[in-house]
Amino acid sequence: MATKKDYYEILGVTRSASKDEIKGAYRTLAMKFHPDKNKDAGAEDRFKEISEAYAVLSDDTKRQTYDQYGHAGFDQRYSQEDIFRNANFEDIFRDFGFSFGGGSGSPFDDLFSSAVFGGSQRGRGNRGRGADLRYDVQITLEEAAKGVEKELNYKHNKKCEHCKGSGAEPGSKVTTCSTCKGHGQVQSVKNMGAFGSFRSITTCPACAGNGEKPEKECKECRGSGSQIITEKLEVAIPAGVDTNSQLRLGGLGERGPSASGDLYVFIHVKEHAFFKREDDDIYLETPISFSQAALGAEIEVPTLSGKANLKIPAGTQTHTLLRMKGEGMPRVHGGGKGDQFVRVIIRTPTNLSEKQKKHLSDLGDTPKKGMFEGMFR
Ligand SMILES: [Zn+2]
Ligand SMILES: [Zn+2]
Repeated sequence: MATKKDYYEILGVTRSASKDEIKGAYRTLAMKFHPDKNKDAGAEDRFKEISEAYAVLSDDTKRQTYDQYGHAGFDQRYSQEDIFRNANFEDIFRDFGFSFGGGSGSPFDDLFSSAVFGGSQRGRGNRGRGADLRYDVQITLEEAAKGVEKELNYKHNKKCEHCKGSGAEPGSKVTTCSTCKGHGQVQSVKNMGAFGSFRSITTCPACAGNGEKPEKECKECRGSGSQIITEKLEVAIPAGVDTNSQLRLGGLGERGPSASGDLYVFIHVKEHAFFKREDDDIYLETPISFSQAALGAEIEVPTLSGKANLKIPAGTQTHTLLRMKGEGMPRVHGGGKGDQFVRVIIRTPTNLSEKQKKHLSDLGDTPKKGMFEGMFR
């Protein structure tokens, strides 16, 4: 497969572009390449490309995932269908009066229902896919650094044992659903006046997308074909994750008539008492004594993996940031580790003996010319 172009590049915006800039860029390009307007070969592909880029960059969560993981990581987490789910093209096209569906035979209708969605929004292919589930998991910074197994109380629906998922009481006859006439989906058409009509297709509520209904419903699951159960689920959280990292467990979402949705585990990393994280680097403050700073020393400081020695060079000033290479967070992508930065804070000595005071006083005299000397006349 050819390498995918960068979404920002496709829309011609910078990585820090605001939502309005992104919308504006997409609008301009869509005007140019919309198949209603542009009949050139390649315009349709270009239109699909910019639409995909817009679908991702106009959605905060998707944009963040793309920024963090790039195409490869993003595609692992989102299917083509996920990309376009919830994307709002309607208001953009309404603005310039293009058709956006409605069985008018417009190319846009085709693009969005078959080409872009890979055809799965139509027909029986995607009928009755179960909903995606979300679980939020809180972990400590140490757990994020090492990776951790977490047990979820995983509440989901499972095939009903009694009817084997058919929803029919064993032995009862099955008939075609009268609401959807066996299609499993029902259509509703929203009239948008001058802008055409917008058609939405939803799963048939009467048969839950099955297209058929039993004469007698299963008494265990009341015809749903599934039962809600709670079970324990072990999830392996990889080292290096941060708040907003998501794990996608394919097929572990709600069970649907034809396929199950996915389970998304959202990670939240707790604030740490003394480690502060910035991307893959860790920041820490540590007090040192005046003499350690003046003479140099080797001290022990905590790290995410335990502790390590830190060398303080002679003559270190207070608030100096010292770097400990490779003691930061593991990188989820690309391998290696960030660094730990230690800010040393010099403690001014108190309760000095007469002798110590004398020593310090001598020290204070050393630079005979003070730096403000010239200011006092
Ligand atoms: Zn049942
Ligand atoms: Zn039906």
